[in-house]
Amino acid sequence: MERIKLLHGGGGEAMQELISDVIKNLSLTKVEGGIGLDALDDSATIPFGDKHLVFTTDAYTVKPLFFHGGDIGRLSVSGTINDLAVMGAKPIALASSFVIGEGLPFEDLRKITKSMNQVCKEVPVPIITGDTKVMEDLDMIITTSGIGLTEKPILDSGMRPGDRIIVNGTLGDHGMAIMAQREGISFETELRSDCAQLWGLIKKILRYEIHAMKDPTRGGLANALNEMAEKSKSGVLLYEDQIPMKDEVLAASEMLGIDPLSVANEGKAIIVTSENDTEKILETMKKTRLGRDASIIGEVTEKDKGRVIMETRIGGRKILSKPAGDPVPRVC
Ligand code: MG
Repeated sequence: MERIKLLHGGGGEAMQELISDVIKNLSLTKVEGGIGLDALDDSATIPFGDKHLVFTTDAYTVKPLFFHGGDIGRLSVSGTINDLAVMGAKPIALASSFVIGEGLPFEDLRKITKSMNQVCKEVPVPIITGDTKVMEDLDMIITTSGIGLTEKPILDSGMRPGDRIIVNGTLGDHGMAIMAQREGISFETELRSDCAQLWGLIKKILRYEIHAMKDPTRGGLANALNEMAEKSKSGVLLYEDQIPMKDEVLAASEMLGIDPLSVANEGKAIIVTSENDTEKILETMKKTRLGRDASIIGEVTEKDKGRVIMETRIGGRKILSKPAGDPVPRVC
């Protein structure tokens, strides 16, 4: 009998297989005129007068619950806000359900909910409904859903040849921080998750021409860019030397043998823009705390349709393929 493995939850090819298995049993997967489950975008949409409601849900299972740079509470609110933000939607309200493991200290629960509150206040966005359950044999799972509003949803499938690809900062931080902490490697304290809400940053650039956006969470940049290239049937040319990365992330990834481009980020967005607006977006982003390391990391090409090609530091070219799954399990 075929059974589900941890890898099936890690983004990438294995998870896509699992999701298509689920979706094929569902016959109603979208609202007329909206973006539905089959699009596998960051959120779904519902036409609402002359606007669109944007709707998303995510279950958070990160281990450990508290990590350098955040905790499951901060992650669950930021992640859901980011799935709305990369659709170009202003977050309106959130719902959050807790499955709490029997034995969790009350103090931990308080810390987690205070973290959630802190991120909510930054946006600001209220948590207007929720649920709590207690269960044996787990630490904690938080499911956070969000609803947002936009005039024009930005899809992850809208790349066009000639577009430029921007990221707002260093890649691999969240995944490597979690992994280093689990492995107890010596300089782990220098590694911090990038876990943050991106609405504050994204709202500042929405007035420019953005053709596609996605947050590179599970499976990292490699997974997200491959999905974007496949969906838009265009190619991606990445410049390795322009991908921002912290030295400690590089060092940890070498030590652990993990590709930093395949691990989750939780405060990053891939922004695909028309060539004309690229510099203006970059300039706007660089003035913000979460965008000060922003960089143009590549371009969209007519050739190599559905593929991501990386121009390496030494001038060679290689295919950056979609990972089977995030090499770090239970990362978000
Ligand atoms: Mg997403």
